[in-house]
Amino acid sequence: MPVITTTEELAQAQTNDMKLEELLKPKASSLQLKKLRIDNTDNVVYCDTSGTDVRPYVSSSLRRRIFNATHNLVHPSGRTTSKLISKSFVWPNLNKDVTEWAKTCLHCQRSKIHKHNRNTLERIDIPLVFIRYTSISSDHCHHKKTCNTA
Ligand SMILES: [Zn+2]
Repeated sequence: MPVITTTEELAQAQTNDMKLEELLKPKASSLQLKKLRIDNTDNVVYCDTSGTDVRPYVSSSLRRRIFNATHNLVHPSGRTTSKLISKSFVWPNLNKDVTEWAKTCLHCQRSKIHKHNRNTLERIDIPLVFIRYTSISSDHCHHKKTCNTA
């Protein structure tokens, strides 16, 4: 994955994050946030240590950028995007935010319309073939006399 953000940026955003202050209160959320140094720099970032992987907490100002950088490569579904992001990052309601943003992604909406149009054309093809077949068979009907019992 390309570099989306740096620990410096994460740490900087966290110092201005009012929500984070609330989350740090005991039992405020299921996240277990601890200040950690996660790379070779001196930057200390609050990370969630409740799971097997230590994931840096992302302040709201950086969330959308992380979504864009992850989603805009191949435009996976909201669920897949959310899985990819939550492997490396954490924030409250990450799933909800990411699926919502994926729903409103213009590129995804356009490709959905394209798929929809293709399906409509395929459905129209069937009656056209049917009409051609029936007209040919009546033109070349060699049993007109026997067919016409009236
Ligand atoms: Zn998309």
